[in-house]
Amino acid sequence: MHLAMSAPTLCIHCGLSAGEPPRLNRLEDGRPCPVCAERLLALLPPLLPAPARVGEEAPEDDFEAPEPGYDAADFDQPA
Ligand SMILES: [Zn+2]
Repeated sequence: MHLAMSAPTLCIHCGLSAGEPPRLNRLEDGRPCPVCAERLLALLPPLLPAPARVGEEAPEDDFEAPEPGYDAADFDQPA
């Protein structure tokens, strides 16, 4: 939904002002407008971190590095 994000808008459901600041309007029968409620939810910051950062962190090496002094060259040589 990209309905005129910049200009003041009226809610398509309840017909009341829908922004600046965003608010939850009520219908004539007193119930909160579901369209206003959805809009407010969409404006809230996400509770979960965005998945776009997956892979950004460098994976930790689980295996231990060879100790200093350990000659890895001997490992492949047949006894
Ligand atoms: Zn509304």
